[in-house]
Amino acid sequence: MKIDADMKTYALIGNPVTKSSSPFIHNYVFDFLDQNKTYIAHNVAKANLANSIKGIKALGYGGINVTIPYKIDVIEYLNDLDASAKKIGAVNTIKIVDGKLIGYNTDGIGFLDMLEENEVRLRGKKVLILGAGGAARAVAITLASSQISHLSIRNRTYEKADLLIEELIQANKDVVFTNASKRQNLREFDIVVNATAAGMFPHVEEVPIDLALTNENAILCDIVYKPHLTKFLKLGIEKGHKVIYGIEMLIAQALASQEIWQDIKIDKVAIKRNLLEKIELEL
Ligand code: NAP
Repeated sequence: MKIDADMKTYALIGNPVTKSSSPFIHNYVFDFLDQNKTYIAHNVAKANLANSIKGIKALGYGGINVTIPYKIDVIEYLNDLDASAKKIGAVNTIKIVDGKLIGYNTDGIGFLDMLEENEVRLRGKKVLILGAGGAARAVAITLASSQISHLSIRNRTYEKADLLIEELIQANKDVVFTNASKRQNLREFDIVVNATAAGMFPHVEEVPIDLALTNENAILCDIVYKPHLTKFLKLGIEKGHKVIYGIEMLIAQALASQEIWQDIKIDKVAIKRNLLEKIELEL
């Protein structure tokens, strides 16, 4: 990297962002592609969100990622949304085109890429999503238009799962959608996704579900990536489940953002393999 007048800046905005892995991932991508670009993280207070967006536009940033808690709040400051952001109702990626801010959402595609890279086939599968927050919503809405046969939501707050299910039913009549928040037998599910914050640092002892309720052949995915080996996945490995780590989705959604910003196709497999060797995983 050469810090000079030509260097293009990209950034993450959110609060807090101090522990984010996104700067490492994106700066690694710029190095890998031999580009003189840099990616930084801005901790933005809610009162400064509007001015931050104006500043980013005025200063000619190359592209922006948005994280908790602004994925929905940021929408009112954008000029347009692409189909992914409209469908999910939240934005994690902003592209600046001719001075206009366009919002995208790469969380859903990142999740699908992660499954594909792990050779998980979705056709006819029954999927259980734990959680009904922002990430669960992005995953659920994306899966709703895949080839799965049944999608169930299980959430600590039953009503939130119900609201999401109602929305999913409208989106696709070909998939069976159910609320599994109160069920005690979850053995029919082929894939179980933790999209809750349970187990996320510093609450590392929390587990989102009792694995005794699930099928021993179910694939377990955790989208929590700090720590890398969550208690959910650790218990799953001990029981012989195939597991998929949250860092893979984080990398996949970041690479999807890069393709949007730079209008290029990236060798995702090569970059991901190298990144997984280099990134400092918090165990
Ligand atoms: P959110 O909108 O705040 O939703 C949090 C969800 O977790 C809600 O469903 C909440 O249930 C549930 N929850 C929280 N604590 C819980 C506990 N102790 N036990 C059971 N359920 C609990 O957050 P989010 O944006 O969806 O993010 C969720 C997680 O996904 C975070 O760890 C985030 O870092 C991760 N994430 C990862 C990626 C990636 O690329 N790997 C991308 C996005 C998000 P209630 O509704 O009952 O409160």
